[in-house]
Amino acid sequence: MGLRPNLLTRRAAGVASTTLALLLSTAAVGVVPAVSAFSAAPGEVCAEPADVHSDARVKKGGIAEHEPNELTAAQVREREADLAIALRDRANHRAGAQAASPLAAVTIPVVVHVIQRDATRAGGNIPDSMITSQITVLNQAYSGATGGAATAFSFQLSKINRVTNPAWYPIVQGSSAERQMKTSLREGGKNTLNVYLGELSDDLLGWATFPQRKLNSMDGVVVLSESLPGGTAANYNQGDTGTHEVGHWLNLYHTFQGGCSGTGDSVGDTPAEASPAFECPTGRDTCTTAGLDPITNFMDYTYDSCMYQFTAGQASRMLTAWNAYRAA
Ligand SMILES: [Zn+2]
Repeated sequence: MGLRPNLLTRRAAGVASTTLALLLSTAAVGVVPAVSAFSAAPGEVCAEPADVHSDARVKKGGIAEHEPNELTAAQVREREADLAIALRDRANHRAGAQAASPLAAVTIPVVVHVIQRDATRAGGNIPDSMITSQITVLNQAYSGATGGAATAFSFQLSKINRVTNPAWYPIVQGSSAERQMKTSLREGGKNTLNVYLGELSDDLLGWATFPQRKLNSMDGVVVLSESLPGGTAANYNQGDTGTHEVGHWLNLYHTFQGGCSGTGDSVGDTPAEASPAFECPTGRDTCTTAGLDPITNFMDYTYDSCMYQFTAGQASRMLTAWNAYRAA
């Protein structure tokens, strides 16, 4: 545990590390055969459970090169309106002394479900050490230790639940099997982070649900097990898929949400970005509005070695959403 080996390269992400990452990527082709071996029928990747907004992270060149469930402008408006309602409800409850005061610091209990096909590593049997390293990565990212703003959140592993079930391996995004899996496994209240680890459909790195006013059994994050620190997913194996998906779970959009116009990702200090950034394109600037593209932000699509920060605006948005949706 401790600091990730290349924490320093994260701060100096540039041409050199990008080149290295590309070489590693070439050398690693075939290391994760199960990822490329699975492919879904065209069109299937855009399916989304109608009652749950979710968001994902994709690899460059993956089967699902476009976001399987990128939010539309209408869905963002709907979510922002819902946040306003949730905040008003909370304020009303507080006025009636039925709800606790807003929190400024939050420790999130984490239940990790390891979905396995069998007892082999290729069948999803990753060691506990990768999971505890992932918790360390979350705590570093959300405390600002990797170079970004400190957020209110810390994470405490409460349980590792190992489940062998070939019917859930891979975990297929938007499938009835995913619903069945989550319905039978999810633990805790709205404040409990349920993480489902396994092989994933469509070459995805992960996906997550946004907070909702009423607890939904689909609530949680799904993460490619080999994206955890020390995993085999080249360029995506330092645990930042977990960091990114938890960002969605805490109500963050992608930095490229909405492109160059409008309210973008609804955060004031993340410069607008026309489209996702991949690898580590230092100096990228896709909008005429102020600021370079936020390629080092955890909510973009760059390599793990390239992303290292949340902004103060994102930290504020997450805490507001916590108090609106997930606080007791
Ligand atoms: Zn995402």
